[in-house]
Amino acid sequence: MGKVLKLANIDLTNRCNLNCPVCFANSNAAGYVYEPTFDQVVTMMQRLRDYRPTPATCIQFSGGEPTLHPDFLQIVSKAAEMGFSNIQIATNGLKLAEASFASQAAKAGLHTLYLQFDGVDDQINLGTQIVDLAGPFSISFWFATNNSKSQFLFGRAGGATSPGAVIFVASSGALAASLTDDNGDGASIISQGAYDFTGYAHLAVVRSDTQLKLYVDGVLRGERDLSLSTITPDSLRIATYAGMFAECMIDDFRVYDRALDLNEIETLWQMGEA
Ligand code: SF4
Repeated sequence: MGKVLKLANIDLTNRCNLNCPVCFANSNAAGYVYEPTFDQVVTMMQRLRDYRPTPATCIQFSGGEPTLHPDFLQIVSKAAEMGFSNIQIATNGLKLAEASFASQAAKAGLHTLYLQFDGVDDQINLGTQIVDLAGPFSISFWFATNNSKSQFLFGRAGGATSPGAVIFVASSGALAASLTDDNGDGASIISQGAYDFTGYAHLAVVRSDTQLKLYVDGVLRGERDLSLSTITPDSLRIATYAGMFAECMIDDFRVYDRALDLNEIETLWQMGEA
């Protein structure tokens, strides 16, 4: 017995109107545009409808962002005409937020929007169990922002005296990391002039049993001795602190339950530079 083809997928383009660092499709980063013509898409769809013993009945257009294809509406209309009974798109939804475009797509025969939600706001909540801030740990990530206001890159949900950790870039370009324990005692490192608000920088914060260290682009920029008790944060969050959201890009965020040494920090920086 032949295989039954239920859902087929056609990439309409590798272009996108977003630039997500996590893009599974490497959209906009390939260095060339892949975008089959209307006729080429029709040929692909005809092969799917000719499939035997059972022709494909469900088709999903994806990308990149499929709504950016110049013939998107005609392709959807043609798919309906060719007998596909369920026509989907994997989309970021931006074009569909235009009421007239959404209406035209529905009239052309579009049935289903395949959307992905990674949260209901711009923060990433790592919870409280990701690492014990009272013991050795390391946090490593890349960030970029051209917004020269203070940006909180990592932090707890609670305010200044709450236990937890905060990592931020100040409006002066200083990079800073601080820990606050359950008694309200804290330790901070500030590296002045460490960031010029252009491009990516690599930041690593390392806590050993006795010290807190701050590295920028593989170079130790500050260290201080620690004498803190237990640290019980309400949560640990990327790109936010106390309800304020960062306007920045953050990439390759790593958390370790040990203190990385200088060689390991340099390797992480060189991996991103390569
Ligand atoms: S919206 Fe989707 S296709 Fe576009 S860049 Fe983001 S992940 Fe990639």
